[in-house]
Order: sequence, then structure tokens, then C-alpha cells
Amino acid sequence: MFRGLLIEKDGDNYSATLQDLEDVRLPEGDVTVKVDYSTLNYKDALAITGQSPVVRQFPMIPGVDLAGTVEASSDPDYPVGAAVLVNGWGLGEVHWGGLAQKARLKGEWLVPLPSVFSPQQAMAIGTAGYTAMLCVLALERHGITPDKGDVLVTGAAGGVGSVAVAVLSKLGYRVVAASGRMQEADYLKELGAAEVIDRAEFAKPGKPLGKQRWAGAVDVVGSHVLANVCASTQYGGVVTACGLAGGMDFPATVAPFILRGVTLAGIDSVMCPRPLRLEAWERLARDLDVSKLDAISHVIGLSEAKAWAQSLMAGQVRGRVVVDVQR
Ligand code: NDP
Repeated sequence: MFRGLLIEKDGDNYSATLQDLEDVRLPEGDVTVKVDYSTLNYKDALAITGQSPVVRQFPMIPGVDLAGTVEASSDPDYPVGAAVLVNGWGLGEVHWGGLAQKARLKGEWLVPLPSVFSPQQAMAIGTAGYTAMLCVLALERHGITPDKGDVLVTGAAGGVGSVAVAVLSKLGYRVVAASGRMQEADYLKELGAAEVIDRAEFAKPGKPLGKQRWAGAVDVVGSHVLANVCASTQYGGVVTACGLAGGMDFPATVAPFILRGVTLAGIDSVMCPRPLRLEAWERLARDLDVSKLDAISHVIGLSEAKAWAQSLMAGQVRGRVVVDVQR
């Protein structure tokens, strides 16, 4: 038996409850993992609260991330006892995810836990942090080096934003953090932001082109914010778009792309090819100051995940939420 947060849907009845489940209910897979820690990402909060159709099969264990130890395996790459982590691949959407004490998975989804991180630290990073690193890698691939100018991070006090600020500043970029919570300015400066600005200035419909301010940007918000960020990106700059915290729409014009050569780089963590995942985790091991993870993350028990999902949806959670599934 193992404990898990189970999402069920019966007609209009949508529920997420902690249940004791039998091992036979685990999905098919070649590796069984004893989960130590999982996390609460924006997508997990959507799934748990039922605010968006994230879950595509019921019943479902949410949790797009997990870190733990291999308990049984027919995959020679991941013997019993190996420390592993998983991000994405449909966990919590079409395959039972990490918000449970056990998971059964395909070996090809697993990433060896980088030796510099404990399972708890890896989950303090989680999908949000790994996505932040995918954004950084995209900026680098498109030639955005620290000397090119300021890099903007939107939704900066959230999970993706916090890790992006920490990594970019360590790499020498001058980071401008945009947040709706100016009371978190000190936190963002501690993470490495050189300046903190109010997201209100991006939130309303803007002009097709504005003052050229950013060499690069990491946007987690979408909608008018993304449109205004593109409009204020300098000639040849790069905007990485990974989120929709403010909306899925993109009410923009093509002006920044055709008149300033701005590149809009899409970032997906879920189906990201394995070599790029491994590169992102290698870079996190190198370019994220582990000592900042305590400030970025907060550990809760599995029984608290549902309440915290509500707070996350209300935009009240700072940084990352790590879930200790054993308590
Ligand atoms: P969080 O909830 O931790 O952070 C989101 C942040 O966005 C909030 O902290 C807040 O930051 C800001 N925000 C929230 N609501 C609004 C709003 N209505 N308008 C403007 N800003 C808002 O989520 P994550 O960091 O985990 O994820 C951020 C986004 O990235 C989500 O949309 C998520 O789905 C997406 N994502 C995408 C991935 C991918 O593979 N493409 C992977 C991971 C996440 P502040 O208070 O500082 O303004």
C-alpha cells in the first residue's frame, strides 16, 4: 500500500483526496520508484483545483515532478537503489505522477539525480527550475550574452521566475525582475535581481513598438505582458515564452519581429528531448547557487498539498513548493 493524492471525476463532481492505494493500481512501467519528494507546480495546482482541464485520464495522481529511489526495475540503466528524478512526460496528466509515495514509470523518462543535489533540493528546482534553465539555454543559443543588455524576468516571485533570476544573475546578466508583488522586492534582490519593477506597467494593451529595453526576456505570464515585453525588446533581442499565468492569448503585432528582428522562442519542458533535459540539469548543477534554494523553496507534507494548490492559484505562493510525500 502507498498514500497518494487521487483526483477523481464523476460527472460534475471533481475531487482530490488523500487515499491509501494498493500497489496493483500503479500504472504500467519498467521502473518502480519510492518517491521521496514531489512539488507543486502551476500545472499541478490547476489539476488539483480542477480549474483547467490538465488531467486527461481519471483517476489520476497529480505531480509533474518526483525525486526518489528505484525500488524495482527491469531497466539496466536504473538498478534498484539508484537515485532518480523525473519531470514532465505527461506525469499528472496522462500517467500517475509524483504526489504519492510510489510511482511506476518508463525508464527512458528518468534522469539520474545530479550528485550535487539532494532529492529535496532537486525538487526545490523541479519542473519550474528546469524550465527556467531551458529558457536560459535558449537565450544563450540565440547569442544573448550578458554584455548585450538587461534581461527581464516576468512573474519573478513565482517558481520559474525565482530560479531564472537566480541563474541569470549568477551567469553575470543584469536581471530586471517584474512582479505583481512589490513586497517581494527584497527577496528578488537577494536572488540577484538588479532592479524590481511593477508588472502593472506591462499588464494593459500597449503599442506595437515601445522603447527598446531588453536584450532578452523570460516570460511566464503570456497575454498582454508577453506582447508588451516583445514590443519593448531591443533590436535582435530574444524573448523566451514558457507560461500562461496571465492568460493563454497573445494580443500582439508582428512589428517587433519584422522591424527589430526580435526572436520569440517557445519553451516546452514536458516533451523536451532527453539530451536537452540532461544538459539543463547539468547546467543547473553548475550555474544555480544551491544556497539560494532555501530562500526559494518551502517544504510541506502531502496532506497540505490541496490547500497549497488553492494558494498557488491565488498567486500567493512565493518561489517553489516542495512536497514531502512521506509526511
Ligand atoms: P507560479 O504560480 O509559481 O508563478 C507564476 C507567477 O506569475 C506568480 O508568482 C506571479 O508572479 C505571476 N502571475 C500570477 N498570476 C498572474 C496574472 N494573472 N498576471 C500576471 N502575472 C501573474 O508558477 P510557475 O512559476 O510554476 O509557472 C509559471 C508559468 O509557467 C505557468 O503558466 C506554468 O504553467 C508555466 N510553465 C510552463 C512550463 C513549460 O514547459 N512551458 C513548465 C513550467 C511552468 P509575481 O507575483 O511575481 O507577479
